[in-house]
Amino acid sequence: MRRVVILGATGSVGLSALEVARRHRSRFRVVGLSANSSVAALEPLAVEFRPEAVALADPGALDGRTDLRRAGWRAGPEAISELATLAGADIVVNAIVGAAGLRYTIAALEAGKRCALANKESLVAAGELVLDAARRGGGELVPVDSEHSAILQCIGNARRREVRRIILTASGGPFRQMDRAALEGVDAAMALQHPTWEMGSKISIDSATLANKALEVIEAHFLYGLPYDRIEVVVHPTSIVHSLVEFVDGSVLAQMGEPTMELPILHALAWPRRPADDVLCTFDPLKSSPLVFEPVDTVRFPLFGLGVEAGRAGGAAPAAFNAANEVAVNAFLEGRVTFTSMADVVAGALETLQGRSADTLDEILQVDRDARRHAASMIQEWKT
Ligand code: MG
Repeated sequence: MRRVVILGATGSVGLSALEVARRHRSRFRVVGLSANSSVAALEPLAVEFRPEAVALADPGALDGRTDLRRAGWRAGPEAISELATLAGADIVVNAIVGAAGLRYTIAALEAGKRCALANKESLVAAGELVLDAARRGGGELVPVDSEHSAILQCIGNARRREVRRIILTASGGPFRQMDRAALEGVDAAMALQHPTWEMGSKISIDSATLANKALEVIEAHFLYGLPYDRIEVVVHPTSIVHSLVEFVDGSVLAQMGEPTMELPILHALAWPRRPADDVLCTFDPLKSSPLVFEPVDTVRFPLFGLGVEAGRAGGAAPAAFNAANEVAVNAFLEGRVTFTSMADVVAGALETLQGRSADTLDEILQVDRDARRHAASMIQEWKT
């Protein structure tokens, strides 16, 4: 029985993880749950799964709920840290959105846990520090991201030098075929209509801009220790092939399946074992054909190129890219910037913060704050 903590339990990945736990009760026991601020969303899950510890990130989330405080519920970032390092827990699923999840990834790995990572922003903002934390604490990083789960499954026991390159697939998002002029006019409701994946709003917008795929290139770089020129991206509109690995002998392995987050989550929890799951066994090769691949259009989707460049530049750039992108996405969701100007916000922040040092967690968090401030002030200036 593996004992599992789920951080960000009320989001899209968190709920999928709970669905996996529900179907595999004999394998996984949910011992900890957290959410950002919604007691109403978390309470029924706590009633159902009866975890040992429950926490909310928002320090004021339990105001007026002495009943829950008495039942052991806690609020505030410190309470989330305690969940991430909960004694007796084997696996911490980090499904928190954005750079806010970074400290808990590090805490879980330092405490020797398996961190099932959906919070790719942790690796983007502070890849080296996250890997250091795993080495120091004996923790293990296992991806929940479907592409990286695919790569892990394809690589298997191969050695790093036997991998020639990895090829991440991208759905291309809802605007894959839209021309540049039309992209100027798209709004949040349109961008949230993802063609193949059902996901939270932040990652849906990142998928529409292809910023998500740039974050995933950086994530792959750290997870698999490969240089950027051995990580490629192709657009694959139906999201059946989740990614490919080419080996030095020319053999190419792909991992395929219907697009559902439950499979990579189950894999991250059970790896290296494969428990039977009849709900997930639905693949039909005839319905899945033909498999189409296209190049990425970096002109229409400039955030992709900006993000990959930030990854290659290293230092403060990936953290700055990630932070400015989060601010731009929130502003777009609230109708304060246009779809195409998100890239301008991010480019401006990257230019301002380039050359800043980012060797320690404090420095990275400072870069994160400054990039957010810069992005927010750019957005404010445009409005006035
Ligand atoms: Mg992904």
